Amino acid sequence: MKQKSTNVVWHDTEISKADREKRNGHKGVVVWMTGLSACGKSTIATELQKILFDRGCYVVILDGDNIRHGLNGDLGFSPEDREENIRRIGHVAKLFADSGAIAITSFISPYRKDRDINRALLKGGEFIEVYVKASLETCEKRDPKGLYDKARKGIIKEFTGISAPYEEPLNAEIVLDTDALTVEESIRKVMDFLVEKGIVKGE
Ligand code: ADP
Repeated sequence: MKQKSTNVVWHDTEISKADREKRNGHKGVVVWMTGLSACGKSTIATELQKILFDRGCYVVILDGDNIRHGLNGDLGFSPEDREENIRRIGHVAKLFADSGAIAITSFISPYRKDRDINRALLKGGEFIEVYVKASLETCEKRDPKGLYDKARKGIIKEFTGISAPYEEPLNAEIVLDTDALTVEESIRKVMDFLVEKGIVKGE
């Protein structure tokens, strides 16, 4: 992105991220879910949010469809627009993480480069890439929004997995194989990771 605005200076406040984390009792991080449409990102994000919320965590979800209604309503699904979509989400997620939140993002985010750019916005350990992995066959079978059907018929163009690429993560912190794991098992795996890394406290 080319910086257009000049004479803008980052304003630090007296309350540090560490102060916020101390009060919240957990770290501020981004849990970045990536994977094909219908692989289970939103389902897992929603359940994970509930568990974290019930434990008293400050947790938010940034979800693909919701963000495209508002903030990114001006963007389509061309490679350039997908890149800009993910770039903006990365910055919003970082703002949340800096405010002490556990920001769970649920976007296909098909390009490795775009995910890596967002990873680089955060400090080591604060960006947790979660590859929600399901075979194309499984995703097509689930198809909760009927999108694959439309993509196969050519009604939706540039559909990830059918007519647009998906670049698998090479070094995701967590891989959830939803062909094999139940939603509960996936959540357990993420929670175990968060506790093991000291991001949230154990039960
Ligand atoms: P995405 O956000 O990745 O597009 P969704 O969570 O919206 O995916 O849709 C996934 C669908 O698959 C949901 O209807 C969910 O109930 C179903 N599903 C079936 N088995 C699983 C599983 N093991 N893990 C996650 N989702 C599953």
